[in-house]
Amino acid sequence: LFEIKDQDLAARIGKLYTRRGVIETPHLFPVIDPSPRKQVVDPRTIASIGFSALITNAYLALRRVGRGKDLHSVIGFDGPLMTDSGAYQLMQYGEVDVTNREIVEYQRECGSDIAVILDIPTRAEDPRHRVVESVEETLRRANEVLDIVEGSDILWVLPIQGGHYLDVLQYSARMATRIPGYSIYGLGSPTTFLERFELDKIVDMIAVVRLTVPFSMPIHLFGAGHPLAIPFAVALGVDTMDSASYILYARDDRYMTPSGTYRLQDLDYLPCSCPVCQRRDPRDLLEMERSERCRLLALHNLYALIEEVRRVKQAIREGRLWEYLEEVSHRHPAARRALERVLHWYSLIERHAPRYKGEARAVMLKSSLSLYNPRLIHARRAAERMRIAPGSIDLYMVPLYTKPDPSDIGSLVRSLGIPEEGAVHLYHPFLGVFPLGLYGRYPYSQFELGALLEDEIVEDLALEIAERWIEADQRSARVKIVCCEDVDWSRRVCAKLREMSSEMGVEADFIRVAACRRVYM
Ligand SMILES: [Zn+2]
Repeated sequence: LFEIKDQDLAARIGKLYTRRGVIETPHLFPVIDPSPRKQVVDPRTIASIGFSALITNAYLALRRVGRGKDLHSVIGFDGPLMTDSGAYQLMQYGEVDVTNREIVEYQRECGSDIAVILDIPTRAEDPRHRVVESVEETLRRANEVLDIVEGSDILWVLPIQGGHYLDVLQYSARMATRIPGYSIYGLGSPTTFLERFELDKIVDMIAVVRLTVPFSMPIHLFGAGHPLAIPFAVALGVDTMDSASYILYARDDRYMTPSGTYRLQDLDYLPCSCPVCQRRDPRDLLEMERSERCRLLALHNLYALIEEVRRVKQAIREGRLWEYLEEVSHRHPAARRALERVLHWYSLIERHAPRYKGEARAVMLKSSLSLYNPRLIHARRAAERMRIAPGSIDLYMVPLYTKPDPSDIGSLVRSLGIPEEGAVHLYHPFLGVFPLGLYGRYPYSQFELGALLEDEIVEDLALEIAERWIEADQRSARVKIVCCEDVDWSRRVCAKLREMSSEMGVEADFIRVAACRRVYM
């Protein structure tokens, strides 16, 4: 039912097999109204943008369209159609006048391809005991309709609740995996956190669920259609999402961009080249009749969303999703906080990140967050395991200041005055310490450095040299550190190392080279 084709961090590109065709994931299902006269953007137009599968609300369909009609023909869409149960209405209005069984039966009859039981959503403001109750009731309802769910050719979604009570969320996820028959786990209720821009809370919620349900199973995230949320959700292992945000924002004259949402009135230009924005400026839209403006804004917002999904997919393919998250983290402080929160769940993303794939692309080193790029972490861990032979001669530590041609590096090292018989390791603020022989291999000479070298980075490198090399190899080798006086970070690392080695009571020699730049150039 679900096949993983490619992955990076905990993200996957996958195939979700529905009875009405295959959906390539990650996929965002735009929410459409079941009644054609209430649709802001026509489903065929949405499909033509590239959204191959849509979602509509079964509760509203049952109310407005009624039983006995095929929803695909009513809506005017023949691709895979997901239906939500009405839980959102439950959250908005407190109650819906159908039972779980009724709405499940209706979804079976109306032609839905992916369907959801009537769960009890967690509200952000709910006290803990209410959250626990909603979880228990949702689980009870999942069991209640097993006679319909099991063996059905519809993909049934089992919602996982618990909100920001992470232990409750984890309990909900664990219990959900014990119920047979469901194909997708749905993580509920991120909307409130998204509205408050608390992406870090959403990061926590997804990570907890992803670590609890089997990695082979797809996860759906309800109501998360914001360009800033998509990269983080996908990176942590969300496969499908749905969202009405493109309409809700449009009704409010809000315009989505990769870095956040603008009020149309606040824009002087439309920073987009989609068919809506190509030949217009904000004034053209503001002067329009409201319904037409809303339709066009909704359409633009859909373009903004699908572009984000595609950028994320491309990053997964290239194995540079971490770099992409870094890029996104510079777009908005909330995204920066989200990425810092991802570090809390580092084992989840590192476990699934491939070392490199296909054509090895240069690792972009742009900020201190680049230190956590799993491709670097893998390389550093491997280098740390390599020790020089006991009883060895002097170990020289040479700063890797530029990226010389691998065939030149030997003579370059010698021109720094290092004798032939010495063992040589290179040191670098992001690559750590590694044997000279690794230079030329991925990623040791495939990187682009353009980061401000904050004290934290310099101190980390000094600490690594002091602890792992000077201290550990004290008996086997005499460590000699080459300090390039004309390379700012090398000078800073050496100053720090002098401090550290005297504090630690270990000895190291420092070789000052006044002009490394001349040698390296
Ligand atoms: Zn546009």
